[in-house]
Amino acid sequence: MWAEEEIVLISAIEHYAYCPRQCGLIHLEQVYEENLFTLKGRQVHERAHEAPSGREETKRVERALPLWSDRLGLYGVADVVEFWDDGTIYPVEYKRSALGRARPAALQLCAQALCLEEMLGVPVPRGALYSHQTRRRREIVLSSSLRQETEATIESIRAMLRDGSLPPPVNDRRCPRCSLVDACAPTAISAARRFVAARLFHLPRDEP
Ligand code: SF4
Repeated sequence: MWAEEEIVLISAIEHYAYCPRQCGLIHLEQVYEENLFTLKGRQVHERAHEAPSGREETKRVERALPLWSDRLGLYGVADVVEFWDDGTIYPVEYKRSALGRARPAALQLCAQALCLEEMLGVPVPRGALYSHQTRRRREIVLSSSLRQETEATIESIRAMLRDGSLPPPVNDRRCPRCSLVDACAPTAISAARRFVAARLFHLPRDEP
């Protein structure tokens, strides 16, 4: 149904929601740089994946569970999926930092739930984000608006992959924390775009 280059990785959803250009640099141009934030984040995911799956109290806990959706052309790996004894299926996405405004991570979690629903044929109405920094969970209700936004984000990523063009830099407060700031050069690119736009705007009109 989907060409290989049209398959969207679940991790790309959080990248795109944070900054479309970051997603393009990683998933179109295969640029990846570590900084302190990404290094710690990767360690949190690796620890979550390496811990053994098994029973814990009233649930079975599966770690590093592969997920996919044929309908959405989506593939990825869940940090943790809990299968509660009452039949509830509950994905948990691990994050390094305090959760704050965690919309990008909520979209990623929602994509995992959409995959689980298609794979297992059961509703997944809720899940959680877990902060390694605070050691706390925040439950996320997977509302219809969150689902719509998730599917729209997947479509935007697919359009970018098909088109092959890198989105412009956001050049705002997101950039200093971004591990790709050197490869991206947001300040220089934004200045160049402004310069070109100004030149085009002031071009003298052709004489008849
Ligand atoms: S440096 Fe800024 S514009 Fe560039 S990828 Fe990172 S967040 Fe996006």
